[in-house]
Amino acid sequence: MWKIGLTGGIGSGKSTVADIFSSLGITIIDADLIAHQLTQPGNASFNEIKKLFGENFIDSNGELNRKKIAETIFSNPSKKTDLENILHPRIKQCMLQEIEQAKYNHYIVLVIPLLLESNFIDLVDRIIVVDADDDIRIQRIQQRDHRSEEQINDIINSQLDRNKRLQRADDILYNNGELGVLRDAVSRLHRQYLEMSS
Ligand code: ADP
Repeated sequence: MWKIGLTGGIGSGKSTVADIFSSLGITIIDADLIAHQLTQPGNASFNEIKKLFGENFIDSNGELNRKKIAETIFSNPSKKTDLENILHPRIKQCMLQEIEQAKYNHYIVLVIPLLLESNFIDLVDRIIVVDADDDIRIQRIQQRDHRSEEQINDIINSQLDRNKRLQRADDILYNNGELGVLRDAVSRLHRQYLEMSS
């Protein structure tokens, strides 16, 4: 079974591409989804994160205040590292379990936003980078998240440089156009991966 890593900057279209692969019947393993599940109240990761940040980072409903945590680690690299040290090994462990469960597929797609920045690269055999121009990403993120252009620019600038990411790609999905164009490009990759794996 081939394990295809899917990555890209914020708003490039990772989730959209994952949805298209999923509609083609492909199993998706999503690092963000796993992180979300791991940080539900009562879980070991939740308890450690609560200890790291303190009670002020817990909502009135007892859940982690993800927005506040995201804002804090943005300007505090050492807290960011501490958080990653809590989460990443566990995310990886869960991904390995899900990979094992999917082992009879021809190929699967692992959506890992931090694939090239963190210690996940050894999970995958091949890398897809989704790419779109900054102005298009900013427009799409504004519609999705209602963040200011300045906030979005700060996030884009804090992420891995676009060219460095593209250099690591085995396959690139350019997502500047309409959804139909993206669907066609994903279908082509799908056929290629099926051929590769058979
Ligand atoms: P990511 O997961 O990389 O952050 P998303 O897949 O969520 O990016 O895409 C960002 C936003 O742009 C979403 O609201 C998505 O629906 C929209 N989007 C993605 N690709 C296209 C496209 N080709 N045309 C129009 N909207 C798109």
